[in-house]
Amino acid sequence: MKITKVEAIYVRQPDVKFQCDSGQDALIVRVETDAGISGIGEVDSSPMAVKGAIDGPYSHSAAAGLASLVLGEDPFETEKIWHKMYRGNIYGGRRGAGFHAMSGIDIALWDIKGKALGMPVWKLLGGGFHEKIRCYASSLFGHTPEKTGELARRYRDQGFGAVKFGWDPMGRDEKTDIALVREARKGLGDDADLLIDAGLVWDSKTAQQRARAFSDFNIFWLEEPLRPDDYDGYRKLAELTTVRIAAGEEESNRQSFLDLMDRGKIDVVQVDLTRCGGFTEAMKIAALAWDRGLPVANHGFTTYVNVTAALHWLNSIPNALICEFVAEEETNLRESITRQTLRARDGYLDIPQAPGLGIELDEDALNKYRVC
Ligand SMILES: [Mg+2]
Repeated sequence: MKITKVEAIYVRQPDVKFQCDSGQDALIVRVETDAGISGIGEVDSSPMAVKGAIDGPYSHSAAAGLASLVLGEDPFETEKIWHKMYRGNIYGGRRGAGFHAMSGIDIALWDIKGKALGMPVWKLLGGGFHEKIRCYASSLFGHTPEKTGELARRYRDQGFGAVKFGWDPMGRDEKTDIALVREARKGLGDDADLLIDAGLVWDSKTAQQRARAFSDFNIFWLEEPLRPDDYDGYRKLAELTTVRIAAGEEESNRQSFLDLMDRGKIDVVQVDLTRCGGFTEAMKIAALAWDRGLPVANHGFTTYVNVTAALHWLNSIPNALICEFVAEEETNLRESITRQTLRARDGYLDIPQAPGLGIELDEDALNKYRVC
């Protein structure tokens, strides 16, 4: 089998708002083969930068468009292709968007392999740990503490046993920060797990103070309190609090995850399959975390392609903790861009069983939202 076409497809809702919601547009990757089997992937990054990294020309041996490197290759050779992409685009692709772009192609190749063999991706990865996996409803904070409490009640009533709130208005001032967490806990009740995503807002000392204050409300983890390069700040924080510190969605590959684990001493390693280098790299990151006794979770705030890829991965590793799941059903793009939609039942997501990823693009929606 040979790869015959690689497409980087940018889709976007007409009404993108200036807010922290990365589900308003998406960069989908589609890879076709001469066997008539195609696979899909996604990249959650700067979409047009990713499109450039994939569609760009072969410039020279360290700056090549990724499509130019993989055309003609056998899609089963995922490890070889991963390294060919990494080496061939190393000027622009060691970290950030140029690297993220590899993820979409790698995910699509695993989709092709699964379809060709009639097996779900998790089985090719050697998995089979779960039939369903616990998920948390992932949400932005309400505009006020009271609105956040209302949201918490809504998710609890939908059957979620774990809920996360994140980003603005967290970080405005101490009183608001604590009120947000207090109202979230009040709305959720005592039994459910409450996860807090600070959204890169503090220095290490402030984060230590907040972790202490939030521990009164029994939070499950505190996510990304610091800017991602403050590894020493993460270490001081992690060493001084019993609250689990979670981070990783800003990282690109296993070298940067090693910094976060070994220098930053975080407690929960969050991996976005669509940024970290795809399945090929995510399996290695999970193994490095397992060696250090650390649980992992996915990060996924975009389409169901991302979450589906995460479910295959979480089912293939021994240290999966929980799955991030955006339970907002009114986002038009997310709900329509794939033929299948995901729904949690009693706070759990089923592991996909169909060949490949088990999720397909909806061609009508793709045409409707496609920008380029
Ligand atoms: Mg986050």
